[in-house]
Amino acid sequence: DDPPTIPLPPVPGTAPEPGRALSGLETRDVTAWFGQRKVLERVSFAMRAGEITALIGPSGCGKSTYLRILNRMHEMVRGAALAGEVLLEGEDVYAPGRRPAEVRRRIGMVFQRPNPFPAMSLYDNVVSGLKLAGIKATREERDHLVESSLRQAGLWNEVSNRLGTPGGALSGGQQQRLCIARSLAVAPEILLMDEPCSALDPTSTRRIEETIAELRHRVTIVIVTHNMQQAQRVSQSCAFFLASHDTPGRIVESGPTERLFTDPADQRTADYVNGRF
Ligand code: ADP
Ligand code: MG
Repeated sequence: DDPPTIPLPPVPGTAPEPGRALSGLETRDVTAWFGQRKVLERVSFAMRAGEITALIGPSGCGKSTYLRILNRMHEMVRGAALAGEVLLEGEDVYAPGRRPAEVRRRIGMVFQRPNPFPAMSLYDNVVSGLKLAGIKATREERDHLVESSLRQAGLWNEVSNRLGTPGGALSGGQQQRLCIARSLAVAPEILLMDEPCSALDPTSTRRIEETIAELRHRVTIVIVTHNMQQAQRVSQSCAFFLASHDTPGRIVESGPTERLFTDPADQRTADYVNGRF
């Protein structure tokens, strides 16, 4: 694909100017419960603007829960509770009066299983987020948005001549890139990715990694991955989460990815990144 040089166009109402400053995200003392069970405890961590931050750690340590807390999806889960603060550019996304839908537009999410609308055309899939976000755009603006979003997701060259194809007709890797395009269409400041490549083959995985790396200059990215090579290839910063049967998930260690992998301060980090558990 061509390098993604076309900036997201300003869509009336919400989309920021091209070349805008990137946003950072921070949590302070975030604690989370499902019912009586505490699954995260006092997680304080900053994800820096313009960086790709990788969240790593064994299954069940709370990485997905942490991501859902960041964009107010956690509260959609029955029995879920939360304490602490999440700051997007210094403003608490849980402040009274803040609309969850607006938070979710500014902080997008891509899931492990590609979930395009299977019967909907590629074109309509990409612009589907606009309606949900209450963004009005003309036909011309939408055309431009579809092209620029698909280009940035590295999918344009493969599908530009068949935008009427249903989303479900694409390969798994293409479906995931379609989901990335759909997320980008509403001009999020932060893109959360929960193991976006775990359901994909190695070739598709590498293509998405390239896409992610290029997106870094447009959107702040937080990616959960179990793939240690992937964490090292795409991220600049990294946080290692750990929980045990009687300890809720917390961050054991965080810092520049290179340092975490070559010179971990904590023995448990060393064991994990070296595949010893
Ligand atoms: P990870 O993504 O690191 O594998 P999760 O955030 O999915 O971890 O899960 C953290 C803990 O919370 C796990 O013990 C899991 O069983 C529990 N959990 C996750 N989702 C729910 C839910 N909807 N209801 C109850 N417990 C949950
Ligand atoms: Mg998970």
